[in-house]
Amino acid sequence: MDGITIKQALRQAQHTLYGNAGAQIDSELLLASALGCTRTHLYTWPEQVLTTSQQSYFDSLLDRRVMGEPIAYVIGEREFWTLTLRVNRHVLIPRPETELLVEMALSILPAQGQRVADLGTGSGAIALALASERPGWEIYASDLSADALRVASDNALSNKLGNVFFAQGSWCEALPAGPLHMIISNPPYIDPHDSHLSQGDLRFEPRSALSAEESGIADIRTIITQAPTHLSPGGWLLLEHGYEQATAVRALLVSRGFQDVRTLQDLNDLDRVSLGQMPS
Ligand code: GLN
Repeated sequence: MDGITIKQALRQAQHTLYGNAGAQIDSELLLASALGCTRTHLYTWPEQVLTTSQQSYFDSLLDRRVMGEPIAYVIGEREFWTLTLRVNRHVLIPRPETELLVEMALSILPAQGQRVADLGTGSGAIALALASERPGWEIYASDLSADALRVASDNALSNKLGNVFFAQGSWCEALPAGPLHMIISNPPYIDPHDSHLSQGDLRFEPRSALSAEESGIADIRTIITQAPTHLSPGGWLLLEHGYEQATAVRALLVSRGFQDVRTLQDLNDLDRVSLGQMPS
């Protein structure tokens, strides 16, 4: 029997994923990934016939998506800022709201000569977005997980970003000597008892990147405690946190001596990022 065409494969996949939000876009992403082509190609060449191996590879990707695996893991990539980042189950899937940290860092710091660290970098999203915008900065990216650091350094290579230096270790312990102008982190902050951890995409993401003790605040507390000894006078700390944690995070920042402490809202108008500055 002849193989099926691109058009037929898309129709079948949409039928299989029917009921999943985003069935059409997922079908396109999966087929483009299986064929190694762009989504535009699918609509330019709808009559192209899949080879047997393309079809069975496509079926295997579709099966994984049907089992609930996040689309980013199945196709192995996710867009963040202007970059395409490789992702796998060792790293959190970059979220759009995390771009708020990148925007703030770019707007606060001078364009030249800054030393900045991204703690718990995962796929490298924050560090690499900053590196792409500010080739003159020295950026340090740390993670406790060697598997995550492999993903992040692959992403630095594939995006041709040379000004990011990777180090393995826990929060500020991985940082080099010498003061930094800014420390940024999107640490784990979900309460371990939160039922969302057993739903949707979160089921497949590394638990250590999502959830922290003390109702989710433990790692944020550690970072706030450690950061001042690594920051220059006037240096900044920027943290992503849960939408109900802003008051607690601001209190921790103030009690550790940070000034100008404030919280910013994400695109959904939820408290998402808090920041503070060391006295100069
Ligand atoms: N923002 C993510 C979520 O709620 C969690 C990311 C994190 O813990 N840093 O899905």
